[in-house]
Amino acid sequence: MLRFYNTLTREKEVFKPEGKTVTMYSCGPTVYNYAHIGNLRTYVFMDLVRRTLKFDGYKIKGVMNITDVGHLMSDGDEGEDKMELAAKKQQKSPYEIAAYYTDVFFKDIAALNIGKPEIIAKATDHISDMIKYVETLMEKGYAYETGDGIYFDISRFKDYGKLSRLNLDDQIAGARVEVNGEKRHPADFALWKKAPKEHIMQWPSPWGMGYPGWHIECSAMSKKYLGSVIDIHSGGVDHIPVHHENEIAQSEALEGHRTVNTWLHGEFMLVDGGKMSKSLGNTYTIAQLEEMGYSPLSFRYFCLNTHYRKKLNFTFEGLKSADTAYKRLLNLLYEHKTAPAETDQKTVGKYRDEFQAAVDDDINIPLALGIVWTMLKERPSKDLYSLAMEFDKVLGLSLDKAAPAEKEKIDVPDEIRKLADMRFEARKAKNWAESDRLRDILNQKGYAVLDAKDGYTLELK
Ligand code: AMP
Ligand code: ZN
Repeated sequence: MLRFYNTLTREKEVFKPEGKTVTMYSCGPTVYNYAHIGNLRTYVFMDLVRRTLKFDGYKIKGVMNITDVGHLMSDGDEGEDKMELAAKKQQKSPYEIAAYYTDVFFKDIAALNIGKPEIIAKATDHISDMIKYVETLMEKGYAYETGDGIYFDISRFKDYGKLSRLNLDDQIAGARVEVNGEKRHPADFALWKKAPKEHIMQWPSPWGMGYPGWHIECSAMSKKYLGSVIDIHSGGVDHIPVHHENEIAQSEALEGHRTVNTWLHGEFMLVDGGKMSKSLGNTYTIAQLEEMGYSPLSFRYFCLNTHYRKKLNFTFEGLKSADTAYKRLLNLLYEHKTAPAETDQKTVGKYRDEFQAAVDDDINIPLALGIVWTMLKERPSKDLYSLAMEFDKVLGLSLDKAAPAEKEKIDVPDEIRKLADMRFEARKAKNWAESDRLRDILNQKGYAVLDAKDGYTLELK
């Protein structure tokens, strides 16, 4: 029985989809920059939700948006459009910026074995849907026009704040909401912005040339593809207090009823115990980790070790041990792959049930991984290898890449291993002189070092 922790009710609930196909909307990237490992943790989480649903036999219709317009620098509807700002800085058009970073995003998620949702919806392809949505909100009396745009009137929506359980005054005190004299309430948010001449992306609307607000994008596209009630809406925890609160206000105002049954939110990634931010220089990309010798799937393994509702502290020591554990897992699997089939069905069934129970309990992947380890420590058997392949449908760790451990190829004495490790560290630190010196010593002792992307192998000369 699959259970999810629903942010709206703050309870673990048995999942009951509305229809035969599960409908799921996931807030996607704003494509003005490279995704950092924190962003990617959130997409790994969404992928685990999708994989668990599929493991449980559900069909999914999933939508992810690509925000390529109208996401302003502050949530208070002030500041520049992130896309336009990046375009200005790089002297490119916002469309070029969006195309470039969208492409990189899809490469990153593919490297992390993150499945693409069935529908990818670009905001700029859905402007007319958003305009219609805003028009309906105007007709129903939930929105009003000011000199610079159309705003949602939150005083008309009595449930505002129900997801974050913050009252409005607390929220305003907490947020840096800039004063806009024409707004009826400081927390009223923009549905549509009137574009100044220099704004590159702008479209005709009943209110003149302009561009949509960020929140309206998700409500309009979710309704268009998935209908007026959806099973699951997912995003990062940072979306709870503003973005998703605003989505709820817009969509419930328009429909007159609840539109999302289960809200799922992934917790944040920290770096060295603190916030990730560009200014601190601690926002790594997958490409940067790869340059340092860590494979994308070692990073995925690192993410899988912590439950999605817990903060995950990124450190290089942590990544390194995940990398070691992941490789060791592949080695262990190889022993099972090459062993004869001989595990009784009762044991196989026990592990299957335990794994199923773990993933069904609000996607408890750390527990599920623990079960895989316990299982693989049993006497090697092809049956357990086959079962691990089934489990990999949820884990997404490419466990079919099982490979023999290096030590099985040659027996390396500790002294040699130490030298080779030192050389690997020197190489990583780009200390070429030291790395060459150690290579010479190893050669003299009869070993050749073969450099690999994320490590090395030793061979007898
Ligand atoms: P953005 O492209 O800035 O809209 O962010 C993309 C996604 O990354 C959103 O779902 C955010 O919730 C999520 N996100 C941003 N920072 C972090 C972080 N440090 N850890 C985990 N997720 C994050
Ligand atoms: Zn969204």
